[in-house]
Amino acid sequence: MNKFHTPKSSMEEMWKLIVELFPIHRTLVNDGFKNSLEIIKRKLDITILEYDSGMEVWDWIIPNAWNVREAYIKDSTGNRIVDFNNNNLHLAPYSAPFSGKLTKSELLKHIWTLPDDPGSIPYRTLYYKTDDWKFCIAHNDLRLFNDSEAYDVCIDIDSKPGKLCIGEYYLPGKTEKEILITSYLCHPSLANDNLSGVAVAVEIMKNLAAIDNRRYSYRLLVVPECIGATTYLATHEDQLHKIVGGYILTCCGDDGIVTYKKTYSGNSVIDKAAVHVLKNKYQDSSFNEYDFWPNGSDEQRYNAPGVRLDVGSFMRTPYSEFAEYHTSKDNLSFISKEKLFDTLDSILRTLYVIDNDEILNNNYKGEPFLTKHGIYQSTDLRKPDKQSICYIQRTLMMELDGLNSLLDIADKWNYSFDDVYDVSREFLESGLVRIVESK
Ligand code: ZN
Repeated sequence: MNKFHTPKSSMEEMWKLIVELFPIHRTLVNDGFKNSLEIIKRKLDITILEYDSGMEVWDWIIPNAWNVREAYIKDSTGNRIVDFNNNNLHLAPYSAPFSGKLTKSELLKHIWTLPDDPGSIPYRTLYYKTDDWKFCIAHNDLRLFNDSEAYDVCIDIDSKPGKLCIGEYYLPGKTEKEILITSYLCHPSLANDNLSGVAVAVEIMKNLAAIDNRRYSYRLLVVPECIGATTYLATHEDQLHKIVGGYILTCCGDDGIVTYKKTYSGNSVIDKAAVHVLKNKYQDSSFNEYDFWPNGSDEQRYNAPGVRLDVGSFMRTPYSEFAEYHTSKDNLSFISKEKLFDTLDSILRTLYVIDNDEILNNNYKGEPFLTKHGIYQSTDLRKPDKQSICYIQRTLMMELDGLNSLLDIADKWNYSFDDVYDVSREFLESGLVRIVESK
C-alpha cells in the first residue's frame, strides 16, 4: 500500500503542465525559461531565485541571456527552407548572431543532421562558446539545398546580461533535515528529456504538501541543467549540511521500465529506499538498478567532490539509450500519462519509506510476553507463513535493539517496509520499544 497516496488526478495535472510548457523556447538563461517557471508557479507556489550573468559560481560563470528574435535560411526565391519559428530545435542554443549570403558548401559547415535518423531534427547546443553558429535540420531536408544557389542566413539574437532563474519550493517538516527533489527545464521543445521530470517533480511537491506530519523537510529545485545546480550549490554552501540526499528526475514518461541510478556512495538510505520500493512494487524484477556512472544529469554536480550529496536519479529508459533522445521525436507522442503516473507513484512510495524509516530500541529484556501486551498473533507452526504478522512480530522482537532501522530489517528478512512498519506500531503503542533518533 502506498501511504503517500498518489491520486489519479495527478495524471491529468502532469499532462496539462507538459502540454502547456512544450512549445516554449527555453535555454540556460532566457525569457522562455522564466516564463516556464511562471507557468509552474500557477500550479505550485514556487519562489523564483535570480542570479546575474557574469557571476562566478565555483569554477563556472553564469552566461548571458540568449533570446532568438529570428533565425532562418532563405533560398533565392525568398522561401524560408529552415525557420526557427517552425521548430525551435532548428537553431543550436547560444549560436552567435550572423547575417549573410552563403553557398551550400559554406552552409553545410554550419548544419547538423542525423544521417542515421534522417527524418529527425537533432537537438545540440553551443553552450559556453561564442563564435560559432549551427542550424539543426532533418537529414532528409538537405535535398532542399543545391550547389548553384546562394542562401540568405539570418540569426538575429538578443544576447546580453540577464538573470539565471531557479524555481524553488520548500516544504518544512518536523526536522530541518531535508530531501531534495530536482529536475532541469533548460531544453526547448522536448518532452521526455526534460519536461517529464519537471512535471513529476512538481506533482511530488503538490502531493507532499497535502500530507500531515511529514518528518523531513522537502525542497524542490527546477534549474537550468548543470549551471543552475552549480549556482544553487555555490550560493547555499552553508545550507547543504541539512540535505540528507535526494533524487533528480529525468526521462520519466517513456514506455520503458523504471530505472534507478544510484548515488556515488551507492548505499545511502536514498538508494536503499528506492531499490526496496522498486523490488516490492515490481515483483517480477521488471526495473533497472544501475550503479552511479559519472556522465549524466545534475547527479554529477550533487555527488561531485566537495559536495558529495547522496542524490540518485529516477528515470525510465536512461537518456542516450532511447533513439528519440535529443531529437524532434522526443515529443508529446513519445510519452504517456500512464507512465508519468507510474514513475510518480514509485517515487512517492520511496519518499514514504524514507520519511517513516526509524530506529527502535527495546524496553524489554529477553523475549517479551506479547499476550500480556495484547498483541500476540498465533500461527500454525506446522506450516508457518513467513510473511504472516506472527512471523514479523518474532523478527521484530529479535531485531529491535537500537541498531538497525526498519528498512534495514525489512531488507534483511525480505519483508515489505509497510508490513514491518505496521507491526512495529504495535510494539511502539504497547510501550515495548521507543524511537531512537534517526541516524
Ligand atoms: Zn538533455
